[in-house]
Amino acid sequence: MNNFTFSPVATIASCFKDKFTIPRQPGLVTAVTAEVVLLKPYATPEIVRGLEGYSHLWIIFAFHAIPLGQWRPTVRPPRLQGKQRLGVFATRSTHRPNPIGLSVVKLLDIQIRDGDVRLILEGCDLLDGTPVLDIKPYLPYADAISDARGGFATSIPDRRLRVEFSEQAAAECAVISQELSKDIALLIRQLLEMDPRPHYQMGKLGDRVYATQLYDFNLRWRYLQPEVVEVIELSSELPSKEF
Ligand code: SAH
Repeated sequence: MNNFTFSPVATIASCFKDKFTIPRQPGLVTAVTAEVVLLKPYATPEIVRGLEGYSHLWIIFAFHAIPLGQWRPTVRPPRLQGKQRLGVFATRSTHRPNPIGLSVVKLLDIQIRDGDVRLILEGCDLLDGTPVLDIKPYLPYADAISDARGGFATSIPDRRLRVEFSEQAAAECAVISQELSKDIALLIRQLLEMDPRPHYQMGKLGDRVYATQLYDFNLRWRYLQPEVVEVIELSSELPSKEF
């Protein structure tokens, strides 16, 4: 049997510095923007010639932050609240025999400056630093199948939580939004309204404070009611692992 060795053609630059709040699929959080940064020797204008004609791309990447060899033939998809085991090939689990991921993303812009080629994306489910193995255009005539069946994941996940900001968090959001020229409150709202906690913690209340690193700030939040999240602060300290 052949073995293959692939080297990345690009790296992802995204706001997600850890995995906690990354959406399960790329189109769920439109406020996320990320970039595909082409690596040498691929960072040339000709390699992306014609790409501007497409609205969407397939990104094929390596799940580099998953320890190798930890896959199982069956997994418990979070969508099914962990209650059912399905074959790994029937899911989009990150723990697979070959740790390869596939994301369809909207292409907003292509930026080319000498020796630097970046594809600007809207929506992304990728960790910062993810190695990109290949980029392909999304072909609607072949890739969009209107009568396709969706197995256990037939609709987009619920966005059921209400997200509130403490006074401190609202003020910090305003400052960071200005610094980054981005609506950070919208981004946080979109990330937290889907409840990023593991299924076995969902619906739980308590004093627990959750934290994740977005860009270079530490987002901290807690659950006030089963359906209400409070963003406590967006500090510049690095997050401690509290989950
Ligand atoms: N759309 C892809 C990924 C789905 S899984 C596919 O279907 O193959 C999405 C999850 O992958 C995210 O919630 C995040 O936790 C995880 N993830 C993203 N980038 C990763 C990386 N580089 N290494 C490990 N896990 C990653």
